[in-house]
Amino acid sequence: MPYVVTIDGPAGAGKSSVAKGLAKKLGVNYLNTGAIYRAVSLFLNDAGIAPDEDKKIIEALNKIKLEINNEQVLINGNDVTQQIRTPKIDGLASVYSAVPCVREALLEIQQRQINYGSLIVEGRDTGSVIFPEAEFKFFLTATPEARAMRRFIQNKNKGIHENYDDILKSIKQRDKHDSERKISPLSVPEGAVFIDSSDMTEEQVIEKLFSHVNNLLRSKKES
Ligand code: C5P
Repeated sequence: MPYVVTIDGPAGAGKSSVAKGLAKKLGVNYLNTGAIYRAVSLFLNDAGIAPDEDKKIIEALNKIKLEINNEQVLINGNDVTQQIRTPKIDGLASVYSAVPCVREALLEIQQRQINYGSLIVEGRDTGSVIFPEAEFKFFLTATPEARAMRRFIQNKNKGIHENYDDILKSIKQRDKHDSERKISPLSVPEGAVFIDSSDMTEEQVIEKLFSHVNNLLRSKKES
């Protein structure tokens, strides 16, 4: 039977790397739901459709062709995987993702990914709204400072120079926006294992999640 592992948490908590590492260890697919919100936000913004233009948003999202393959996202055949990783899209995604008709349009697309087999899914509402019945739920967080530092180092390694204080400010703004919005706010889903990774390496977090999932999968097989 296919199973779902959800990993929710704030910006920069390391969810993507952990989801990717865990999926590799378990030999299953993973879904980065933030990448979908980012891609759609880029598309709507480029099309000149504002977050309050519900009718136009619904029309555009009905026609759009979204292809998702792990972390790769194509919109109408264009690979936007790299293009959506900018500070501008960080902000836009946080705004468009608070629009109810955007969330509604993307819900089914995300749920459909289970048709391709077991899935590690990460985002803000994956254990509460997208897959409330998931077998394994985690909430991964770290202090804003630890998350900003990780993002700073990640960017530096990619040759992107963004000031640490600006990253910290943007992370705090996104936390506030994602937690305070009316629809699907960032929250700890019921039954989720809470992990503060401020003092943990990525490998330690992956190992911790892996042992949880593996133990439960084994005990299910034996029963
Ligand atoms: O995870 P990431 O930072 O790439 O997500 C970009 C934005 O998309 C978040 O700031 C959040 O506003 C939104 N998002 C969401 N629900 C999800 C995943 C992401 O609202 N499940």
